Amino acid sequence: MKIAIIGVGTVGSAVATAVKNTGLVHEIVLYDRDGVRARAAAEDLGHAAAFGFDVKISAVNNYRGIRGSDIVIISAGANQKPGETRTDLLQNNAEVIRDIVPRVMANVDPKRVILILVTNPLDVMVMLAQSLSKLPPSRVIGTGTMLDTARLRTILARGLDVSPQSIHSYVLGEHGDSSVIDWSSVTVGGLSLDDFCHQSKITMTAATRETIEYRVRNAAYEIIRGRGATWDGIGAAVADLLKCIINDEHRILTVSIVAGTGAHTVAMSLPRVVGANGVVMTLMPKMSSTESAALRRSGKIIQKNFSRI
Ligand code: NAD
Repeated sequence: MKIAIIGVGTVGSAVATAVKNTGLVHEIVLYDRDGVRARAAAEDLGHAAAFGFDVKISAVNNYRGIRGSDIVIISAGANQKPGETRTDLLQNNAEVIRDIVPRVMANVDPKRVILILVTNPLDVMVMLAQSLSKLPPSRVIGTGTMLDTARLRTILARGLDVSPQSIHSYVLGEHGDSSVIDWSSVTVGGLSLDDFCHQSKITMTAATRETIEYRVRNAAYEIIRGRGATWDGIGAAVADLLKCIINDEHRILTVSIVAGTGAHTVAMSLPRVVGANGVVMTLMPKMSSTESAALRRSGKIIQKNFSRI
């Protein structure tokens, strides 16, 4: 399994490390328009590989070097500076995706390649990459709200004193400020959240839920304020998505792909079954009327941003 990573900044390097540590790939090639940075990352990661899985890691200085890749991960482009939203990156990163995708497509097998998008604003970049690549939407996958969902499960787990693995809950819609927490579909050990709280004598008020929503939506802003960028969480999310694809696991992940037709076309996150061929099925989870309305609003924001590029 050969993986290419385009854009080897803070996120691309963390993704490479996490992917290497899955032990599932035999070769990782790194491309960045800053060739010195890519070569340095390949060198450093190559040394790390001597302590673990034997993965061949190299930097390439042109797109011919990615030939033979089964999966291409795009993590190039500007990141948020403190106080900036993901949408502030729209025009700059649209240019980056316009630069990268045609060159990637000229050097991969369009019948089998899967593109994984990480660059923000994520959902709009998925729409752009899918239209430029002309690949089936099921094989142009954005990490979407995987990270937001992980944040929600972790915060809930601490409050409920159970493992995040025992919590099923989803953040849907935009990977951004309009994301929607689907409280209606939360289950803990198969119980609804209310039933679990009742049995465990935990009180979860409306104010508690609001605080959790705030923490989930603002996690990236807090991390960027504290350490300049986010990388560990997204590295782990990409590695998890890759594992799901390589092992054909058919796990349900909140990834973003293009869906719908005509004026209803949009990429946003919903729970989706992911396997070796990419997304094989999309689920529409249980939602209250307020949550459904928030999801529609989130979709409209993504469509509006797509129309601006
Ligand atoms: P960074 O500035 O550290 O690295 C970006 C890299 O992209 C740089 O090395 C730069 O040289 C390279 N690059 C820019 N344009 C290029 C091009 N046309 N071709 C090849 N390489 C190019 O930024 P970062 O912190 O690594 O963030 C990268 C992206 O990931 C940002 O858009 C950020 O918002 C996004 N991100 C997404 C998530 C998520 O959940 N989806 C999480 C964190 C960060």
